[in-house]
Amino acid sequence: MRDRYDVIVVGAGPAGSMAAKTAAEHDLETLLLEKRVEIGDPVRCAEGVGKEGLKQFIKPDKRWIAADVQGARICFPGGIKIEMSEVGPEVGYVLERKIFDRELAKQAAKAGAEVMVKTRAVDLIKEDGFVRGVKAEHLGDSFDIHADVVIGADGVESKVGRWAGINTTLKPKDIETCAQFLMTDVDIDPCYCEFYIGNQIAPGGYAWVFPKGNNEANVGLGISGSRSEVRPIEHLKRFVEKKYPEGQIIEMIMGGVPVTVPTKTTTNGLMLVGDAARMSDPLTGGGIIHAMKSGTMASEIASKAVQSGDSSVECLNEYERRWRPTIGATLQKSYKAKEWLLKLNDAEWNSIASSIVGINFKELTAFGLLKELTLRNPKLLWDLRSLL
Ligand SMILES: Cc1cc2nc3c(=O)[nH]c(=O)nc-3n(C[C@H](O)[C@H](O)[C@H](O)COP(=O)(O)OP(=O)(O)OC[C@H]3O[C@@H](n4cnc5c(N)ncnc54)[C@H](O)[C@@H]3O)c2cc1C
Repeated sequence: MRDRYDVIVVGAGPAGSMAAKTAAEHDLETLLLEKRVEIGDPVRCAEGVGKEGLKQFIKPDKRWIAADVQGARICFPGGIKIEMSEVGPEVGYVLERKIFDRELAKQAAKAGAEVMVKTRAVDLIKEDGFVRGVKAEHLGDSFDIHADVVIGADGVESKVGRWAGINTTLKPKDIETCAQFLMTDVDIDPCYCEFYIGNQIAPGGYAWVFPKGNNEANVGLGISGSRSEVRPIEHLKRFVEKKYPEGQIIEMIMGGVPVTVPTKTTTNGLMLVGDAARMSDPLTGGGIIHAMKSGTMASEIASKAVQSGDSSVECLNEYERRWRPTIGATLQKSYKAKEWLLKLNDAEWNSIASSIVGINFKELTAFGLLKELTLRNPKLLWDLRSLL
């Protein structure tokens, strides 16, 4: 390790590894810091990802694909199930993120980035109103590492943004608190992801069952932070006892998903990416693709900043100008849809479900579903007009 790099990336999740890989591919001296001993472990994710989104960044490889998904079933509180088969970009894979995340970090290393595990960023170096590097700890040693640009990819619990003076605080309603079991011996359809909606099951959120092959599945749920009188783990235990009484729990995780729209992601010498920038989709909670996309974009801009010797916020704001009309536009729409869906009670969910029974969906996306809803329920058109 040196004491100066062009770019330091904090956090080796999908956002950080893509940022480090892209920076190294642009011939930048790059350092990727990860606080964990093992990249990708523990997994805090249901591991579902759209094929189309993923293929923009990496060639699918069966080593890190647990299941190839052909469709989704949405199960409503009154018992109606809507089935959507392989017709759109949301159909995809269930990943093995322990291997996937490690593969992304390996690709960053192969491109020339230096990777350091068990190395925690503990603060930023700030000089003359600029972020100029990272203070880090590794095996009891503390040290300062300087850089022209720091990329904060430290996930939902991000501190990098706060250290840089960016307000990344989440309101309770803008965080989905989740619990998930990796279960074995569950009798499931190996090719379908299932989603369960209803305020009894997951208030302000949903439960999911994502197959992982060999009768294994990620079974989890997320509930809105503003509705959580009962902890998600209690909701999940109830759900699992009822649905999979014979199943065995072999792993358990808790975690939060930001379900909001980012306010600011740049300051002098610093950019935030992925969950650190609050870029997971407020409607679905999916954040892997946005993380990979934003990590890539940030490093493309970092390359320009390093080459021009200007890492001021004015220069780095090109990153904002790139993600806002793309990732940002999706986040805005999803946020509005989430706000609308949060208001529905179970009777309203059931009435919506009845109106779309038997439809052959042309688009297997959350917005495809909303489009069909408005076609069948013209009264909803007013509420949802800005989303379609
Ligand atoms: C229960 C649950 C289910 C989910 N399911 C899905 C899903 O099915 N599909 C989907 O697309 N998304 C899902 N998500 C969201 C998805 O996991 C995230 O959006 C995605 O991991 C974000 O990637 P990231 O690189 O921004 O952050 P992360 O993957 O969280 O990576 C951040 C990394 O930074 C490291 N780090 C943190 N602080 C420091 C520090 N100070 N110094 C050094 N390293 C640090 C962490 O150890 C971690 O490795 C789910 C999330 C949860 C909680």
